[in-house]
Amino acid sequence: MMIVMEESATETEVEAVVAKIERAGAKAHRSKGARVTVIGAIGDVEQDASLSSLGLEAQPGVDRIVPILKPYKLASLQIRHGEHSVLEIAGRKIGGDHFSLIAGPCTVESRDQMLDAARAVADGGASMLRGGAYKPRTSPYSFQGLGADGLKLLAEAREQTGLPIVTELMDVSDLDAVLEVADVIQIGARNMQNYPLLTEIGRSGRPALLKRGLSATLDELLMAAEYILKEGNPNVILCERGIRTFETAYRFTLDLMAIPVLKQMTHLPVIVDPSHAAGRRDLVEPLSLAAAAIGADGVIVEVHPNPDEAVCDGPQQLRADDFQDYSRTVLQASALAGKALSAV
Ligand code: PEP
Ligand code: MN
Repeated sequence: MMIVMEESATETEVEAVVAKIERAGAKAHRSKGARVTVIGAIGDVEQDASLSSLGLEAQPGVDRIVPILKPYKLASLQIRHGEHSVLEIAGRKIGGDHFSLIAGPCTVESRDQMLDAARAVADGGASMLRGGAYKPRTSPYSFQGLGADGLKLLAEAREQTGLPIVTELMDVSDLDAVLEVADVIQIGARNMQNYPLLTEIGRSGRPALLKRGLSATLDELLMAAEYILKEGNPNVILCERGIRTFETAYRFTLDLMAIPVLKQMTHLPVIVDPSHAAGRRDLVEPLSLAAAAIGADGVIVEVHPNPDEAVCDGPQQLRADDFQDYSRTVLQASALAGKALSAV
């Protein structure tokens, strides 16, 4: 349930409500909107029953109690009173009227490749730098990523460009190493429902970029986000990256409808990955334009200094030399949706 405080509620009154919820064994998640504080009281079914008998509506400072009807609670738009969240990560804002341009290679391959890509995307105005050190590959015989050595190169790229790093975590046992480097931890489409991984990222408190599973519904995506939020980590970015349909002419089907519909369901920022959706370079710019114009809060796009030599996803990676033009065009489309580049 959701406890909506009066506009005039004092900090002591808010704390008293929080304490009462916690004594009943549930978790209290505070969220301060433009006008009022809302407290989400989230528990299991039994705790919900005992919360209902606490008489919270009579508590000083409480305006009203509202049930949250959706299965996802902390991810719902309702818990924020219809206000979309604007996250702040390493000084960059994500959501609201900010457009995030996250760019970089599919995977870290070598020092030269990573640093060249990093410089190109930084010069093109990127908000953050992507690059995988741990790669989820369909075949166990494909390149699996440089692991810890890749993380070191990402750290160097951050140092040289000042760009925050987005990198994927696949296994909880690598969490500490990834935390050393990642400003945002990416959870790949194949791990969207890896619940222990989501829980640990939630506990770490580090911002998370959660990709939609290949066949996941929007409800399932939001339930996955709920695992992270439930641990007290409010910094979750959702990512539409194409879903599997009967169409075989391209790699996945980019579900552009997911963006406006997610905006009605959740307060969390929503970005789009046109690279993995398309699997082809020629589609990346048109899909990015469509995503930006329809109101996405950003894109995450693959860029490589020499895609023809890339060890993975070469056909879909933009050429680093083309990034500046790409960036300019996509930012024009984001302006149609009232957004401007997120930068420090
Ligand atoms: C990636 O972004 O590197 C990636 C593997 O994407 P996805 O999990 O969406 O396939
Ligand atoms: Mn890739």
